[in-house]
Amino acid sequence: MTARILNGNLIREEIYVELREELAALKSAGIVPGLAAVLAGDHPASKVYVSSKIAACESLGIRSFFLTLPASITTRELLALVHDLNGRDEVDGILVQLPLPPHVDAKQILEAVDPSKDVDGFHPINVGRLAAGRPNLVACTPLGVMEILRRGKIPVEGAEAVVIGRSDIVGKPMALLLLHANATVTICHSKTRDLPATSRRADIVVAAMGRPAMITPGYIRPGATVIDVGTNRITSAAEAERIFANFPERLAKFREKGSALVGDVHPDVVQVAGALTPSPGGVGPLTIAMLMSNTVKAARLRRSEVAAGATVPR
Ligand code: NAP
Repeated sequence: MTARILNGNLIREEIYVELREELAALKSAGIVPGLAAVLAGDHPASKVYVSSKIAACESLGIRSFFLTLPASITTRELLALVHDLNGRDEVDGILVQLPLPPHVDAKQILEAVDPSKDVDGFHPINVGRLAAGRPNLVACTPLGVMEILRRGKIPVEGAEAVVIGRSDIVGKPMALLLLHANATVTICHSKTRDLPATSRRADIVVAAMGRPAMITPGYIRPGATVIDVGTNRITSAAEAERIFANFPERLAKFREKGSALVGDVHPDVVQVAGALTPSPGGVGPLTIAMLMSNTVKAARLRRSEVAAGATVPR
């Protein structure tokens, strides 16, 4: 068996078509959503991430505000900036790129973001709303996984789903979304006993551990759907040879560049899974698409309520 590939780039384009229609309707009502991205310090990967988010805004016609700050910025200065963005009507979404410089109190900063502008879905109020089954703005990566499952026509209701990883930004919200979609959910982590046996029970496996190619075919029941959230850069030739033994083209590319991106799922899983997201090119494109979607949603909810004179729920 060779798995059906769930192509994240194609799904992202479908979502962008829908978002463009919604943006056009908002524009005719005089609303242009705006996203403010805050980047503190010189973290090279963060710069790349924020630039691609800004580029996505530009391609869709979402207004963007890119705030670059020195690594020396203090918690108090950053708090003042977030409060300023909270008060600006043209800003619908606020994204504080992590990691923040080590001396900054990241939790305090994230909790200072107005929950109605929290397009990353990290604020405790939005996390609580998700847990209570009244989601508003939800973390982008797990939201993207649900879009892949829905648009890939993978049945979720009644399915056994195993989520491997329990982080606040991926594993936990992922498990809650699957639960609300009526899957029977098991959450695994580094202390789980006999992970391969637990994982083999699943109709849907979501791998989010940050462990390159850890999920080998022995973890997967034949025909199961496998969602690979992991994005890991490998630089060791021995590791590349182990992972790409059956993928000579990927091995040749690794040798040319000296590095490669791999997921948490071993590429050989394509031989046993029924459907599989590739990494790269699976979940990654959806994370940015859902950030755009959350920004449009935040604008629609906040501005319509402000226009109606209602108090925006905090
Ligand atoms: P994280 O905060 O480091 O959490 C990793 C989780 O995996 C933890 O719960 C940990 O268990 C569990 N884990 C680690 N080793 C394990 C093992 N050997 N067996 C079972 N569980 C294990 O990571 P994260 O932020 O959730 O990210 C996970 C992966 O997703 C990373 O590769 C990251 O780059 C990727 N990611 C991709 C996107 C995207 O847009 N594609 C977005 C976000 C993250 P414990 O809790 O017991 O320590």
